Amino acid sequence: MTHKILLTGGAGYIGSHTYVELAAAGYEIVILDNFSNARPDVLDRLEIITDAPVTSYRGDVRDRALLDTIFAEHEIAAVVHFAALKAVGESGRMPLEYIQTNVGGLLTLLEAMMAASVWRLVFSSSATVYGDPEKLPIREDAQRSYTNTYAFTKLASEQILEQLAAADARWAFGTLRYFNPVGAHDSGLIGEDPNGIPNNLMPFIAKVATGELEKLSIFGDDYNTPDGTGVRDYIHVVDLAKGHVQSLGKLIETGAGHTVNLGTGTGYSVLEMVRAYERACGHELAYQIAPRRDGDIAACYADPRLAGEVLGFEAHRDLDDMCRTSWNWVSRRRNG
Ligand code: NAD
Ligand code: UDP
Repeated sequence: MTHKILLTGGAGYIGSHTYVELAAAGYEIVILDNFSNARPDVLDRLEIITDAPVTSYRGDVRDRALLDTIFAEHEIAAVVHFAALKAVGESGRMPLEYIQTNVGGLLTLLEAMMAASVWRLVFSSSATVYGDPEKLPIREDAQRSYTNTYAFTKLASEQILEQLAAADARWAFGTLRYFNPVGAHDSGLIGEDPNGIPNNLMPFIAKVATGELEKLSIFGDDYNTPDGTGVRDYIHVVDLAKGHVQSLGKLIETGAGHTVNLGTGTGYSVLEMVRAYERACGHELAYQIAPRRDGDIAACYADPRLAGEVLGFEAHRDLDDMCRTSWNWVSRRRNG
């Protein structure tokens, strides 16, 4: 039987890659996106990749009437909820907008789901709910905390889902804690496309590689890590997308909720990322050492075993593949 899935934020970076993997797995998909951080032509590109028309609604996940219309027009089996604001720095300057969109959006969606008797949801959480981890690699039972408003919204959302699941056994949630998604689809048609100057490392490096930005500032080289620069668990976005297919499958087949890390279990430093990208783009990348960024932690990488046990999840794509697909995407994008 074909199941129909509502993908909020489905035109965004992770949502668009997940769309492709869900379509390949035989799901029917309805996208809801307000395009606040995505270009409408992503939908055309998804049609090219999947060779099938895309069903989408342009609107806000906080619009209850629109959600009711979508649930009335489609027999939705489950929701994958990506729609959110995600810039850590901005979240401190605009806390109300972040809480309103990320927490308020989730609440409105859950109310609409309950009214439509749709009880399964995959939620985009983040390794940021671990704050500054005490132990590495990070297991799912590590203490949770937050150091910024964005992280607060993710932790609060997780807790809301826990309250609902405890109160009513019909709910089943797949809470996926992403580490650092990077890379792009092999086609070069979709990828990460931030507006303005990127906050995150990989899109910044990519813009240095294309010549759009002059040089990378490495935020600190005096951390307690092998080369002194920050260490993160970078995961290929296509591997991450496949994790959503596995999470959905588990929710739909068994109704069993789960909370798992989606990472590779391997950490790379900023300097290792620069070197890997240089291999992919074929030229040296300019960088300078700059002061530490406020709120940054030295190292963060997952213990990915639980996702393996619960979902059969395993990340297959290596660092060179992450850089190669990113470079393919940004160089094609730049050439139109
Ligand atoms: P993204 O900004 O590319 O995608 C989010 C999508 O949601 C965009 O297409 C945007 O237009 C849409 N959107 C935003 N607010 C909306 C609203 N109110 N109504 C409808 N649509 C709205 O971000 P992404 O990197 O694809 O992230 C997807 C999810 O994963 C987010 O919840 C994010 O917090 C989470 N996450 C991302 C990362 C990361 O590093 N990219 C890491 C951990 C968690
Ligand atoms: N980083 C950097 N320069 C940049 C952006 C990021 O040196 O312009 C570093 C950052 O300090 C961290 C790593 O790269 O050690 C990953 O940062 P990102 O913002 O991508 O992810 P997060 O810190 O949220 O895990």
